[in-house]
Amino acid sequence: MHVVRNRAPLASSAFYPLPLGSVRPRSWLRDQLRIQANGLGGHLDETWADVGPNSGWLGGSGESWERGPYFLDGLIPLAYLLDDAALKAKAQKYIDWTLNHQSANGMIGPASNDDWWPRFVMLKALTQYHDATGDPRVIPVMDKYFQHQLGALPARPLRDWSKFRWQDELLSVIWLYNRTGSSYLLDLARLLKKQGYDWQAQYADFKYTKRITAEYLEIEKGDGLKDLALATHGVNNGQAIKAGPVWSLVSGSAADRSAVLTMISELNKYHGLPNGMFSCDEHLAGLDPSQGSELCTVVEYMFSLEQSLAILGDPSLGDRLEQLAFNALPGTFTDDMWAHQYNQEPNQVECSLHHKPWTTDGPESNLFGLEPNFGCCTANFHQGWPKFAASLFMLSGAQDNTAEDGLVAAAYAPCEVNTFLRGTQVQVVEETGYPFHGNVRFTINPASPLSFPMQFRIPAWAAGATIVVNGQAAPALAPGSFSRIERTWRSGDRVEITFPMKPRVSRWFNDSLAIERGPLVFSYGVGESWVKLRTRGMTADWQVYPTTPWNYALNINAASPDKDIAVTEGEVGESPFTSSRAPVKLSVKARKLDKWRAEDGVAAPVPQSPAESDQPEETITLIPYAAAKLRITAFPQLKS
Ligand SMILES: [Zn+2]
Repeated sequence: MHVVRNRAPLASSAFYPLPLGSVRPRSWLRDQLRIQANGLGGHLDETWADVGPNSGWLGGSGESWERGPYFLDGLIPLAYLLDDAALKAKAQKYIDWTLNHQSANGMIGPASNDDWWPRFVMLKALTQYHDATGDPRVIPVMDKYFQHQLGALPARPLRDWSKFRWQDELLSVIWLYNRTGSSYLLDLARLLKKQGYDWQAQYADFKYTKRITAEYLEIEKGDGLKDLALATHGVNNGQAIKAGPVWSLVSGSAADRSAVLTMISELNKYHGLPNGMFSCDEHLAGLDPSQGSELCTVVEYMFSLEQSLAILGDPSLGDRLEQLAFNALPGTFTDDMWAHQYNQEPNQVECSLHHKPWTTDGPESNLFGLEPNFGCCTANFHQGWPKFAASLFMLSGAQDNTAEDGLVAAAYAPCEVNTFLRGTQVQVVEETGYPFHGNVRFTINPASPLSFPMQFRIPAWAAGATIVVNGQAAPALAPGSFSRIERTWRSGDRVEITFPMKPRVSRWFNDSLAIERGPLVFSYGVGESWVKLRTRGMTADWQVYPTTPWNYALNINAASPDKDIAVTEGEVGESPFTSSRAPVKLSVKARKLDKWRAEDGVAAPVPQSPAESDQPEETITLIPYAAAKLRITAFPQLKS
């Protein structure tokens, strides 16, 4: 499978995702995908009727909306990245049913539900499946469906979820246009934009700067202010982050391209949390780190960043992607990935039924379980790890000049790339303990000597990063850029990058501190007591109660935090986001703050820094955010 670039008159992308299967995980990342497959990721259909044998997406009378397509959107990349025959066979049942049951008019999916939205998700799944297999049935089915939709949309326009998520279908429309060149697809693209919600206008003059409450949305009046609720809905915003870049491929507008940066900075300014997320539980929820973020939003934000990074080639999008992948994503699952939360919080001191700080979500939202609060995340989380693994490397090169073809290390984790550049087979092996360790080693193996550029993302935090090519130090690297090396590569050539891993401080709500090191944020792991609430088929729902105090303020000089923080590094083994196996730990001096308490299991807003305490000084240990299922991440700073 070769990369298909944007076809004129579409604008060029900076980079292109490599076809599914070109980048495969190794080492801890492969283990992580295997954990997912051994957990709910590979068994959900065996224990949850919504994606089981009676699914509407298998021709049954059961769930016929988004859940089947959501599951497939993650199951396909999981199955093909692990090259797992049993998982491929599971996915194939849904694919075959959809491809073999297209209506005469072109409609796909269960006849009992004609909502456009779930079909957006099935189209994403079909494009990945085609990239991995080349199944010749996919393109004719998509072509007939899009012709049907172009004819039907004027009388049955986008509404509700489809109106607010139009850019997700546009990706698939562009995918098909690049393969067939049928001009009606550009008409369909323009119609989707016209009927879809104007996210750029929302963020050009951003009004939702405060916690969005049920009262504000008038939810008590039945449907309430539906469009307002959808515009401030976390998952919709996570998906919309890519709206400007994806539309810019059609419009050619630089302003559309850069809209993603405005959107991220506004979300960060008014709703940003130290785990890289914005709050959404499930509407935008302000800056308090006791507010939550929904798992669907985590994985959709990641997918938006992967797509936007390819289109713009902006390294800051890779920084954010790693922050989510290495913190918010693993932080909201049990270690075995048999249970997840709907909402996670940076300052999460209890996961129980009487813990409910949410804007609109229900009382089960931060339990670990099969489908806490609502089953969307149960079906949708599967795309997180596999799509991240598939996006670690991308292809660079203009659409009209394949002599520019090269490889881009967009994000870092252990993996292996196998692809073709100008007809020559090229393998790249990446070995690293990143994000826990700062050293990343690449071995480049072209089948025969080949000149091409390689680009390496240098994160904005990585001042002082160094690069060595075949033992020779190369010029200094600029943080917040892509470092480009062009040479004739020979089999066995080595590139070694060392990122400085000094602890850093970031500032949050009430001038609180979070401690970061590389792409990881660190948390104080509160003692945990796991109490089973109920068995759920092959899994269970759990409440988690604190067994130790957590109300610490840190004694850290924010100007030179590395002097006050001791780092202990260990080996990176299987399941590194587990508290007992955390490959890196930090020690800091702290004192308890008596006045900082929890009410109904919710940590009160982190007290204003600097804070005073007459309690004795203690040394506490911080572990990676994701390893601490009860945690404090945003700390008050002690008055020096
Ligand atoms: Zn969800």
